[in-house]
Amino acid sequence: MGVQWVLVCHGLATLVVVVSFLCGQWPIFRGTPIQSLHYFLTFGAYDYFLRCVGYVFGNKGTNFVYSVEHACCDRPNPVLQILYLGIIGGVYYSIVTSSFSYIPGYYLSEVHIYTSFLAVGVGILLFVLTSFSDPGTVTPENVSEFLSAYPYDYIIYSEKECSTCKFLKPARSKHCSICNRCVARFDHHCGWMNNCIGEKNTRYFMAFLLWHFLLCIYGTIAIGLVLAGRLKELRIVYILTVYYGIDDSIRSLAPHVVQTFKWQDYISWQRKLNEAKASAAALKASINGLNSEPKPAESKWRAFFRRSPLQDAEVVAKRNVYDKGFFHNVWEIILPLSTRRSFFRAKLKSS
Ligand SMILES: [Zn+2]
Ligand SMILES: [Zn+2]
Repeated sequence: MGVQWVLVCHGLATLVVVVSFLCGQWPIFRGTPIQSLHYFLTFGAYDYFLRCVGYVFGNKGTNFVYSVEHACCDRPNPVLQILYLGIIGGVYYSIVTSSFSYIPGYYLSEVHIYTSFLAVGVGILLFVLTSFSDPGTVTPENVSEFLSAYPYDYIIYSEKECSTCKFLKPARSKHCSICNRCVARFDHHCGWMNNCIGEKNTRYFMAFLLWHFLLCIYGTIAIGLVLAGRLKELRIVYILTVYYGIDDSIRSLAPHVVQTFKWQDYISWQRKLNEAKASAAALKASINGLNSEPKPAESKWRAFFRRSPLQDAEVVAKRNVYDKGFFHNVWEIILPLSTRRSFFRAKLKSS
């Protein structure tokens, strides 16, 4: 039973860490341990570490940490790529050694030994594709193609020369200071990929994210089924039912327990909803000023999951000229303009 409980604890701890890291700033978690954990994971831990180094090694120690941080975060380097491979390889190895002996089990057939290997392999393939593909580097040779791809909106992008590359920056492009190049339809520089994410490789990056999301779900379900299979095989449910009559009592108790939790959740949800509404109203009032017209109430869901007060600023922004609708936007990611024939025709016309 030892391994099963370690797996359950590991699953719960992973869930708490992932939720805290990704959603800890949501208003719904304000004042909860999830928010504190989010702060600790994103700033606090590093801050404590720096203070600790300063206390033990003095200024020289902290300066050394800053120089390592600069080399790792502000210069191209494969540290996070190696870390990713270490994490995915280490996790897969630990699953192979701890859980594969239970496959085939009561609920899982032998095929999952091969599909899990395939799933991890595809994840690594997408990682390699994103890491080593051209993100859409703008050069003096292809700048005319990218200039004709998108119009300037004169809100975020206007006709401006890149001070480093010395050519007109196409709309939606950005000079990456880490890679020292201009990248078309620049999204961000990804430290994990040691590469920019831009016009040509956003598709691989999105596929990488989606695939790893599915991989997590697959892994969670598979490990859950290994656990359930072990419980079945060890006849624990049978023993509890026959010898202690626990199954009946659990069944009769379950609806009441669920009801109680639901009501408590509802009360706490309602309280947080009111708080979120009040803070949203205060924020709006401060942004709109005293002479604004009264606005209709904001959607409850929006108030809950708004990540940043900056989203309120969108009411004053003009229409986003680059937003051509969900399906068109997705299609542009899957098939970038620069990979289409029409793109080259545009280049011929303009040259
Ligand atoms: Zn540039
Ligand atoms: Zn970059």
